[in-house]
Amino acid sequence: MNLPADQYFALIAPICVILLGAVLLACWWTQRRQVSARFLLWLAAGYVLPAVAVGAQSLMSNAQLAQWTLLTAGLYLMGSWCMAQGMAQRYGQAHASRWLGAIVTAVTLALLRYFSQVYDDLWARVQWLNLGMGILQFLAMPSLLRAAPARDRLEKALRWTYIAFSCYILMRPLMVWLVVPTAETGQMARSGFWLLTLAGTLLFSLWFSLVLLSCAVRDVFTTLREERNRDPLTRLLNRRAFMEAAEAVLTDRRTGPWAVVAADIDHFKKVNDNWGHGCGDQVLQSVSQVLLKQVRAGDAVARFGGEEFVVLLQRVSLEAAEHVVQRIAQELRRTEMACLPRAQAVSMSFGIAPVAGLPGLAAALSHADELLYAAKQAGRDRICVAPQPRPPVPPPAASYQDILV
Ligand code: GH3
Ligand code: MG
Ligand code: MG
Repeated sequence: MNLPADQYFALIAPICVILLGAVLLACWWTQRRQVSARFLLWLAAGYVLPAVAVGAQSLMSNAQLAQWTLLTAGLYLMGSWCMAQGMAQRYGQAHASRWLGAIVTAVTLALLRYFSQVYDDLWARVQWLNLGMGILQFLAMPSLLRAAPARDRLEKALRWTYIAFSCYILMRPLMVWLVVPTAETGQMARSGFWLLTLAGTLLFSLWFSLVLLSCAVRDVFTTLREERNRDPLTRLLNRRAFMEAAEAVLTDRRTGPWAVVAADIDHFKKVNDNWGHGCGDQVLQSVSQVLLKQVRAGDAVARFGGEEFVVLLQRVSLEAAEHVVQRIAQELRRTEMACLPRAQAVSMSFGIAPVAGLPGLAAALSHADELLYAAKQAGRDRICVAPQPRPPVPPPAASYQDILV
């Protein structure tokens, strides 16, 4: 091919976009076992397919553009569909509307066929193709609207970038009128419109993949942190995470006074023996939900192992802590465990001890454990609270006789 150098130069943008797609693909590959990472695969396709079309078209004359319209348009439309599909999956939908996708694609291809093979009009093709692509990208919008509110700025940036790019594609036909002189009849691949498309696509792709990769890295760290900190069965804090959470709470004086509760399910072994280990697991999950429901947001609830739980309550007197635990015990009596016979409720024994700041945490935990043991010894299904700390007694005044001695 004997093409002017600037046409080869125009390949830089699509090649960069293809490389970004390859980065997304690599990102998906490292997490390929997780179904939730599959959206990266769709987005990678959303990058690569249109970039291939852009690259090919950059090297074509107007006559070749007309000849290859349906193939290149197919790549563009599939790319937009893949983007919508990827975003829909990221926000928890199985897929974007396939019916609408198929209809929009079919109508757009039919119009492009007409404007290339019946009546050759390059700018009409540009308008209809961009409209079709914009509509396809907007098919992810229901998932974005239904998604939970964005957790942080990164997530917000991702959603808004996608919306902005979809709008940009929809608006591109309008920009043709505004930016490109109507009389621009030269080679399409060297027109102002084409340069605008290349620049827009490259900038968007760079920015979007930057935000997307930051989100993906953040998601990986969040998952790792959750796996490190949470008990996989109940999703409560594990012992290590409890200690970290306790350190943060107990070093903040404003959250005191504190109390620690040690709790243990009564006769849990019988649940396993009589109704199976699976039922035992369900009971552990239900008990965890009851515990979480009855405490406040800043309180730390952990599963220390087996059927033993520990709760750190903040801003409570021992009396208030006892009320909280009474509520938990009542709620447990009311909770029907699906795998147990209707009349059978699960009970727990509790020990409650005050915590004197961070240095006193270990002592408070073993104190609560002793009280829990006492509750078990006393017949189970009960609460043992540490005696109220007595106000310090002033030392007796020295007596007359002491002074004499
Ligand atoms: P007590 O009232 O004295 O606490 O008696 P218990 O039967 O609750 O206590 P014991 O320590 O004798 O038995 C605890 C049982 O908890 C034994 C163990 O198999 C079971 N267990 C520990 N972890 C799990 C788990 O993750 N899932 C299930 N289903 N059972 C578990
Ligand atoms: Mg037990
Ligand atoms: Mg136990």
